[in-house]
Amino acid sequence: QKRDASQPEFIQAVTEVLNSLRPVIEQDEEKYRKLAILERITEPDRQIMFRVPWVDDNGNVQVNRGFRVQFNNAIGPYKGGLRLHPSVNLGIIKFLGFEQIFKNSLTTLPIGGGKGGSDFDPKGKSDNEIMKFCQSFMTELSKYIGADEDVPAGDIGTGAREIGFMFGQYKRIKGLYEGVLTGKGLTYGGSLARTEATGYGLLYLTEEMVKCHGDKMEGKTVAVSGSGNVAIYATQKAQQLGAKVVTVSDSTGWIYDPEGIDVDLLKEVKEVKRARLTEYAAARPSAEYHEKKNGEHGVWQYKVDIALPCATQNELDLDDAKALVANGVQYVAEGANMPTTIEATEYFQANNVPFVGGKAANAGGVATSALEMSQNSERLSWSFEEVDAKLKNIMVGIYHNIDDAAKEYGMEGNYVAGANIAGFKKVVEAMIAQGVC
Ligand code: NDP
Repeated sequence: QKRDASQPEFIQAVTEVLNSLRPVIEQDEEKYRKLAILERITEPDRQIMFRVPWVDDNGNVQVNRGFRVQFNNAIGPYKGGLRLHPSVNLGIIKFLGFEQIFKNSLTTLPIGGGKGGSDFDPKGKSDNEIMKFCQSFMTELSKYIGADEDVPAGDIGTGAREIGFMFGQYKRIKGLYEGVLTGKGLTYGGSLARTEATGYGLLYLTEEMVKCHGDKMEGKTVAVSGSGNVAIYATQKAQQLGAKVVTVSDSTGWIYDPEGIDVDLLKEVKEVKRARLTEYAAARPSAEYHEKKNGEHGVWQYKVDIALPCATQNELDLDDAKALVANGVQYVAEGANMPTTIEATEYFQANNVPFVGGKAANAGGVATSALEMSQNSERLSWSFEEVDAKLKNIMVGIYHNIDDAAKEYGMEGNYVAGANIAGFKKVVEAMIAQGVC
């Protein structure tokens, strides 16, 4: 803890994982101590930090900081997204990379854990500035990645446009046409259904959980936070399954739309115009727009059956959890990475609200990225239906895997522990088999 004291998000993620692994470790404490498994799994293989200089539209040189944390490749090449957001620092990238190890393990596919990004803020930048930044970022990053080594993907602030610019620069520098990035455009090696995968996958898993509780999605009211890639496709799939999503949000405010979010309008505002949610409200008479103020519950104040936090880390705290439980929330599943604080998670669990953490619930994105890697390797493209069916199969499998792992260790219904245990055991087995490295 001392070594990483300045990285609160990383400490939070490690604390959450290690606490839930207690029953596994207690069964074989001597082995874990002797082989220093916990010390090895919490220390990244390497952490790369670099300068990213680029020239803005006024001819001024700007400098950002780039990161790639290659955390663990026991079960496959490092895999994890690139986050472009002003809040990015080493601790955040480390927490994300650490979580990614277990998430990737849960997908059942051969991918290790990593994460990267920059404190660059894409908001308000021209396409030319985005391209300049992405090219400079990839000029350095290209030294450390490769189709069999480390395969980055999108995350907050990194969508198809950014991946395209980065792929172009990698190809130019290395002279290689290989699947070094996922989330690519469909004309150059991208996979159908990758755009939808995280949001759809979240709903496939949620649907299975609801079903296994003798319940159904049809007729449920849902609160979604965020209005980016995950939130949009979570909203779309929830509505396809017969539920009604009544909220979405961004970093400045939120929408409450009691008639149900109009997904086509939301996509037009966020994906085409790259505009703010105020534009959604302006075009939709049934929608209320609220500006975010500190201390308010935002999207979590409404009476809903299901809460799906899909924006960013620590966006749902203990007070929000209390408001949701008081309003009778029945299920919570995380589309974002660590959106729920530890106290809020414990509150849901103490109140018997089935809660699935992001590691399991949002694994559909990286699972489909791994399917993109498979398609690139065999130089073929699968149909939307084929990828979507595989995704659904994987998410249903993840639900049962984490449910079974929790039961095996006497923690029935604790899906957070189940996910950590199931993800951890596979990685550790591979680490032990590969010796001290
Ligand atoms: P996007 O950039 O597409 O959207 C992010 C959304 O979150 C935006 O609505 C954004 O609002 C909001 N947001 C960002 N920062 C904050 C903040 N500090 N406070 C409140 N709202 C904020 O990202 P994604 O949808 O891709 O990612 C969302 C989450 O899901 C992240 O935690 C990501 O790591 C996780 N995830 C994503 C996967 C994917 O495939 N895309 C896969 C697995 C996990 P604004 O526009 O105002 O910034």
